[in-house]
Parts: sequence; structure tokens; C-alpha cells
Amino acid sequence: PVPVVAVVGRPNVGKSTLVNRILGRRAAVVQDVPGVTRDRVAYDATWNGRRFTLMDTGGWEPDASGLQAAVAAQAEHAMNHADVVLFVVDSTVGATATDEAAVRLLRKANVPVILVANKVDDERGEIDALGLWNLGLGEPQPVSSLHGRGSGDLLDVVLDAL
Ligand code: GDP
Ligand code: MG
Repeated sequence: PVPVVAVVGRPNVGKSTLVNRILGRRAAVVQDVPGVTRDRVAYDATWNGRRFTLMDTGGWEPDASGLQAAVAAQAEHAMNHADVVLFVVDSTVGATATDEAAVRLLRKANVPVILVANKVDDERGEIDALGLWNLGLGEPQPVSSLHGRGSGDLLDVVLDAL
């Protein structure tokens, strides 16, 4: 069976942009409005000749009071259905309480969790990414999903975890 890689995180951290970057085409819906990706969408992806299914998640309403619960539900679904979880954080914002709540769940997961420090658009952004070590998910992988910076290195880490 083809392994499943799930992309999890708060609205607007750049999950769909990352999915598009990995797919190399604009398949996942990206918008400035948080919560624009409805439910879960799966795509076929390959890297270095290896196939995997990439699962984008979303479906949250902007400023929904249940945001933390919704992100937690996505994290739990991913833990139960994916072979690897990419937990995406906006490094320009840093870890929020919602991120920390999701991490508490993910740290109990039996699947590898890779911490993606997204929106590291330039070298200065690397400093922000280092602050995410505090989440306790290991080394943050700095990526600019928008520009592609670091995405090849991230995919190498993903394949190593599969
Ligand atoms: P999602 O809600 O987590 O799926 O986030 P989206 O992929 O829809 O992106 C939300 C916003 O963040 C959009 O305006 C993206 O263009 C922007 N964004 C995503 N990745 C990056 C990045 O690496 N750098 C910057 N500067 N912006 C990004
Ligand atoms: Mg999205």
C-alpha cells in the first residue's frame, strides 16, 4: 500500500501551499482566508521515485470558538490514519496555544511527526524556526512553501521517516 503523509496545523500556516509545493502544481486550494480547505483532500505525490499519498487538512471556520478542538481533531485523525504527520507551524508567528495543544496529542502518536517551520522565506527567518525547538517535536525543518526554500530537504526527511 502507498504510505500516507498527513499535513496538519492551524489555519493559515501554509498547509495547502506546502502541499502544492510538494505536488509541484496548484492542486490544493490556497487563500488568505483561514480555514478555506474543506475537510481532507488526498493527492498522489512522488519524491525520488517513491510514491506516497499526501493528505491536506482544514475545514475550520475563521475565528471559530472551537478552533483548538478542531485542530486537535485533525491531529488525532492524522495520527490514526497516516504513516507520517507533517505538523506545520507559521514560524513568523511562533507556537500558539492551539499549536501546543495539538503537539500534546501528537507527542503521544505512534507515527513519526515532522515539525515544519513554514514561512522561512530567507536566512533571517531561520532564527524564528529555532524557537520551535521548544515544542518538543525535535528539529524544526525550515521551509518556505511559497518560494520552495528547504522543501527538497524536508522531503528527504519525510522519505527517511516512511
Ligand atoms: P492553510 O490554511 O494552512 O492551508 O494555509 P494556506 O496554504 O492557504 O496559506 C495561507 C497564507 O499563507 C497564504 O496567503 C499563503 O500565500 C501564505 N503562505 C504560505 N506559505 C508561505 C511561505 O512559505 N511564506 C510566506 N511568506 N507566506 C506563505
Ligand atoms: Mg488549506
